[in-house]
Amino acid sequence: MSSEARGLLFVVSSPSGAGKTTLCNRLRGEFPRLEFSVSYTTRPPRTGEQHGVDYYFVDQSTFQEMIAKDEFAEYAMVHGHMYGTSARLVGEALSEGRDLLFDIDYQGGRKLKQSFPADVVLVFILPPSIRALEERLRRRATDADDVIQRRLRVAREELRHYAEYDFLVMNDDLQRAYDALRAVYLSAQHRTGRQAALAEAVLSGQERLL
Ligand code: ADP
Ligand code: 5GP
Repeated sequence: MSSEARGLLFVVSSPSGAGKTTLCNRLRGEFPRLEFSVSYTTRPPRTGEQHGVDYYFVDQSTFQEMIAKDEFAEYAMVHGHMYGTSARLVGEALSEGRDLLFDIDYQGGRKLKQSFPADVVLVFILPPSIRALEERLRRRATDADDVIQRRLRVAREELRHYAEYDFLVMNDDLQRAYDALRAVYLSAQHRTGRQAALAEAVLSGQERLL
């Protein structure tokens, strides 16, 4: 058995505009070993999005082929497009002890938790209110009015699934929310089940370099 801890699957979901990107970028800035899990999607790329960085953009038939070959750890239809997480990426990260950050919805989080109950942490970012969410979406100024209205409807739908998550972080004050998110990440890393290999290594007399 390796004396390194297993990788952690850190899932962060939120309604669009709640501040997930802001918080996750900060987390990855502080913890560079936390890698972003790049999903596959049939959605067309938005301006500025890069293949292999934001998503792997594939056509419908490629996506269906990947489903048939069992290449997804989870996949779901979200807002009319297919999105999926590579099973190989997840398997390799777990066995190599690399932590992965997932920006996936509640359906994906639920499936990963079923498949890897000891390795998955589900975090949901809450907006302070629907009104604050609307204000942030307007201030971000990336979406037209009808898109903002649709996002707000979907937000209510997503919020209804909060009880399926392990942790809820309200993003009212950004610094307070970030402190909570990093505390969750650090706590999850130190769960006994994930660190057992380290304890066994100490017991067996192995020296660790500081
Ligand atoms: P998401 O990734 O969830 O769609 P973003 O991270 O893009 O959300 O945040 C949406 C907008 O709200 C951005 O303009 C961001 O700067 C702003 N924002 C994020 N967190 C806060 C906060 N705590 N208070 C005020 N504005 C915030
Ligand atoms: P967007 O198209 O705005 O990037 O993402 C739309 C939604 O799809 C977001 O809620 C995002 O979390 C979710 N999503 C992105 N990738 C995946 C994935 O691989 N699986 C699942 N289940 N949801 C995903």
